[in-house]
Amino acid sequence: MAVMTGVDTHCPYCALQCGMKVGCAGEISPRPFPTNRGGLCRKGWTAGELLGHPERLTTPLLHGRPVSWDDALDVAAAGIRRVQATGGPDAIGVFGGGGLTNEKAYQLGKFARVALGTSQIDYNGRFCMSSAAAAGLRAFGLDRGMPFPVTDIGAAQVVLLAGSNIAETMPPLLGPLTNAQLIVLDPRRSATAIRALASGGLHLQPEPGTDLAVALGLLHVVISEGWCDETYVAARTAGFTEIRRAVASWWPERVERVSGVGVAQLRRAAELLGGAHRRGGGVYVLTGRGVEQHATGTATVSAFIDLALALGLPGTPGSGYGCVTGQGNGQGGREHGQLPGYRRIDDPAARAHVSGVWGVDPQTLPGVGRSAYELFDALGTPAGPKALLLFGSNPVVSAPNAGHITERLGALDLLVVADFVLSETAAMADVVLPVTQWAEEEGTMTNLEGRVLRRRQALDPPSGVRSDLDVLHGLAVRLGQPAARFRTDPREVYDELRAASAGGSADYSGITWERLDAGEALHWPCPAAAAGDPPHPGTPRLFTERFAHPDGLARFVPVEHTGPAEPVSPEFPLHGTTGRVLAHYQSGAQTRRVTELAAADPETFVEVHPDTAAAAGLDDGAWTRVVARRGAVLATVRTDESLRTDTVFLPFHFPGDQRANLMTNPALDPISRMPEFKVCAVRLEPVSGNRGYSHDCHSRGERSEP
Ligand code: SF4
Repeated sequence: MAVMTGVDTHCPYCALQCGMKVGCAGEISPRPFPTNRGGLCRKGWTAGELLGHPERLTTPLLHGRPVSWDDALDVAAAGIRRVQATGGPDAIGVFGGGGLTNEKAYQLGKFARVALGTSQIDYNGRFCMSSAAAAGLRAFGLDRGMPFPVTDIGAAQVVLLAGSNIAETMPPLLGPLTNAQLIVLDPRRSATAIRALASGGLHLQPEPGTDLAVALGLLHVVISEGWCDETYVAARTAGFTEIRRAVASWWPERVERVSGVGVAQLRRAAELLGGAHRRGGGVYVLTGRGVEQHATGTATVSAFIDLALALGLPGTPGSGYGCVTGQGNGQGGREHGQLPGYRRIDDPAARAHVSGVWGVDPQTLPGVGRSAYELFDALGTPAGPKALLLFGSNPVVSAPNAGHITERLGALDLLVVADFVLSETAAMADVVLPVTQWAEEEGTMTNLEGRVLRRRQALDPPSGVRSDLDVLHGLAVRLGQPAARFRTDPREVYDELRAASAGGSADYSGITWERLDAGEALHWPCPAAAAGDPPHPGTPRLFTERFAHPDGLARFVPVEHTGPAEPVSPEFPLHGTTGRVLAHYQSGAQTRRVTELAAADPETFVEVHPDTAAAAGLDDGAWTRVVARRGAVLATVRTDESLRTDTVFLPFHFPGDQRANLMTNPALDPISRMPEFKVCAVRLEPVSGNRGYSHDCHSRGERSEP
């Protein structure tokens, strides 16, 4: 095999952040890296096509017309000033994507709070791991997606994948799982579920919205069969007595009635988990969006963490609990997009530290703002923001209740979008700012295991394109900020981020670019060493000695099953659920523009059991309308005998009338504010005539010039 030359960097897409080389013409080759061991999925292999894509934005747009950078930034800044003059600081909302580098996410948070003074900022990670983060914080006192390196799971005997379809979302992660028995919890017979059955494992196929009942049932069996690790529970946890009481009534027979997961399967799953741990084998419980993206997401993850604690897994070498983070820098964004170092903005000590680094009075920092859906929902309302700055996100396709959110975006006085292609949301913007993408820029990312990685520039951006850091600098200066406060050199921004994170739970202060460029594997926390001391080695494994609560103990958290926020009814008799396919990533704004990926999955579909399809008068390949209370999705029927008869599945990568999020329910988790993406009530209706899909951009109607 020919050895490829090029720059060592990482895939632009998911949180596995596979290692790759990028040549000066954008050619891709995999490179050995612990998370992918030389493998890439088809999204990674084809990522180079975006670099020279003909639809690449190379000039700012004002209402769709090319303008100079000065004109675009002047209009955006004037619009911000005008909106804030009448509506105050919170009249501006800010939203960042989950793929922004650490430097961009950090600078965006600083820009919002210092240059705009707005509390109205959130990022797309809210829609990704927020329920797992909330549950991890209350159980362990600290949240890091995987508190261990991915390579650790290579020695596992049994892995429970609850709501994660890694065979399609991040296939190289299957590599370390080759020798493990997998237990997959998913309403669909996903590619990962098929892999589980081939491994001698199990596919538990619950009714959507009942994962929590399954977790309680597993815990019930583990306790009643004596597979609980009582030594671990006594030494390392608190609250087990309440848990024992809370799950006592979750007999397998009750779980079967609630979820459809059979008694024998549930017992077998608990036996696999408990038996392996008792024999000294590695056991992991991993959660994904399937169980997290619910109005009960935090409670559901808490139940899986309770199960892991009862088995004695978290912090035990070779075992553990982790969240399979999805978005490329979902991990780094949540550490730095708010207050750096994973600090809370309502913590006076955190405000004092960060404002000191920023050179501002802590009294001037705004407080807690709206969460992502609440922010979108409030846009253009009397009490909500009248303008929105959006960096690298496409909520017209990706937000729940997307039809409503599109209307809210249309009601804004000013929408400014920074992106590198004209996404469906950018197409609605007053001002579009064309920015650099992954292989054209330097920076850092933090992958799903909390390891900080260097993103490196392999080729020059097209003429006319600027980095997001340049954009923030340009806007900040126009808004009266000192030029030196918003630097444009990513290395300088990173060094400031390190200082701002020092002392926080996600402490990056000891992770220098020099160490990363020397090839060190550094996971946060990694504090800077005192003068004369050796550098801190980073923390690849958390919780090995103690958890992050003051007493060092993990917390069991009793939770109760309540079911979907929107139960089925005679009018809407089916559960609609959503997910990803191998060829596409998130809203598809990038992957739908890649020839091979678009050819693999050019448009949406709905998976339906043949009996369900027949009952609705639909054949395989027919065109149908999937109707929910909030909207309808047009899709082609794919019958699949392995699906539950009460459930239909749609991928969420497609625009226009094919947007799965036209149907999704924005009911929010009370703690994480995660919307209930993963289950809503729907019905199927036949559609006659031409397919007539609409991919049209949405009009924002008549508005005054910003
Ligand atoms: S999309 Fe994810 S799994 Fe695929 S190559 Fe990129 S980082 Fe790896």
